[in-house]
Amino acid sequence: MLQDVLQGIKELIFPDNCFLCRKYLRSYHQKQLCPACLSLLPLNLPPFCLKCSRHLTLFNDHGLCLSCLKNDYSFDRAFSACIYVDPLPQLLHAFKYHDKTALRKTFSELMINYIETYHIPLENFDLILPIPLHPVRLRERGFNQAELLSRLLTKHYDLPQRTDILRRHKLTPSQTTMEAKQRWTNVHDAFRIDHSSSIADKSILIVDDLLTTAATANAASEALKNAGAAYVGVFSLAITP
Ligand SMILES: [Zn+2]
Ligand SMILES: [Zn+2]
Repeated sequence: MLQDVLQGIKELIFPDNCFLCRKYLRSYHQKQLCPACLSLLPLNLPPFCLKCSRHLTLFNDHGLCLSCLKNDYSFDRAFSACIYVDPLPQLLHAFKYHDKTALRKTFSELMINYIETYHIPLENFDLILPIPLHPVRLRERGFNQAELLSRLLTKHYDLPQRTDILRRHKLTPSQTTMEAKQRWTNVHDAFRIDHSSSIADKSILIVDDLLTTAATANAASEALKNAGAAYVGVFSLAITP
């Protein structure tokens, strides 16, 4: 009873609103979006590219998207829960640059739904590694968005996450405004591997928030493979169309 009264007072003083439409959210909600806005989030749906799982809009004999036809990625498979179209850019920007880290619950739920719906065999991976930020970026932002997502996933599935293996040693400018070609040179050789004995002959899943050109995931998996990893998968919240 007292708790209900306190909760009522809290809601009067600090009302919770949907992050997108500002509609009032009922108490004890776990998400930052109302059900209507949640249903608008653009899920990644079949048919999928056989390599990166991007939704295919054009078909060819290889079953690959244009990016995978053009690039010989060093990772073996990639999976993404959503397509990076409205309103996802707005949400992801708020998550990364405006400290709206509570959105991680919504994001990780989308990722878990994708895993369950499409039977992504997470149990086949020995280790989960979030894509790291450079220490300078980490200090600026205060958190690593990929690690927040990865932590909720590994907690949910009781999988081992390691943050001391993949290290970003090159401070690269933000990629958001870059052309595809620049992104590749920007992240080239950006990663180093510590404790390489922990990944020798292992299946590794790297987790990131967004795949665009997949240049970052490619650079990270190349470093992991060079250090002895047998198989590298990538799992991201979203992928560009
Ligand atoms: Zn809403
Ligand atoms: Zn693809």
